[in-house]
Amino acid sequence: MTDPNHPRYFSLVVREKLTNGVRLGITSISGLIAHGRGEAFDYLLGERTHPFAKSAVNAAAAFLLLSEKPVLSLNGNAAALSSAYFIKIAKILDCPLEVNLYHHSKKRVETIENFLGEKAGRHLLKSSKYEKMVIPGIASRRKITIREGIGKADCVLVPLEDGDRCRAMTAMGKTVIAIDLNPLSRTARSARVTIIDNIVRCMPQLALKIAEMKKFPRSRLEKISKNYDNRLVIKQALKAMCYHKNNE
Ligand code: ATP
Repeated sequence: MTDPNHPRYFSLVVREKLTNGVRLGITSISGLIAHGRGEAFDYLLGERTHPFAKSAVNAAAAFLLLSEKPVLSLNGNAAALSSAYFIKIAKILDCPLEVNLYHHSKKRVETIENFLGEKAGRHLLKSSKYEKMVIPGIASRRKITIREGIGKADCVLVPLEDGDRCRAMTAMGKTVIAIDLNPLSRTARSARVTIIDNIVRCMPQLALKIAEMKKFPRSRLEKISKNYDNRLVIKQALKAMCYHKNNE
């Protein structure tokens, strides 16, 4: 049990969720290493949500609300850390959830699907029940996707993504919204919107924003999406990381 008085309590709780995810067969061992990479960047951000991440969350909400067929893609880390918010957003947008893994195995996909369970209900596209298709230009098993899900999506939320698939989906004309603490990753640089924040902090915010902005007129959402500049957000994140480091 983690002591709430520990100075790094928050970070330890998140780690515990992930190691538990490994025990349950949801998260891969490599997922722990990927989380370590994320933690390093979060440390440089002072482990807080910055204004540039808030503006990316706004834009992400606008793009998702404007799209005709949004889909939320989940991997093992996202499922262990934020599944409740993925389900919440799927319900608000009335859109599908698809499990898609870099370190793919049929068993792990099913374990995650069972973990999401009844709470996800009809929003979860169960891998065994749908026709698959291949996203061209990807070496990993992540190229295999559900035709009715990511295959037909015009906008995809992809937390903790790998750069290959992000680029390939962008090349297919999809609007890609990434959550990635590393502003230098290929994913961060190729997505239309990159939320440079910890998934555990930004997913609750994204759910709130989508619910709030659902009432906005289309013209207002279009203005938010048009004015959003991902390159500027990446620059601001890099600046914030250097500033925090130099002002300790
Ligand atoms: P790319 O292929 O895009 O260049 P990569 O190979 O560094 O990126 P992976 O190891 O496939 O990326 O994925 C892990 C990514 O997820 C890292 O960029 C890491 O910063 C990010 N990440 C890990 N944990 C979190 C988290 N809790 N919240 C947000 N981002 C995270």
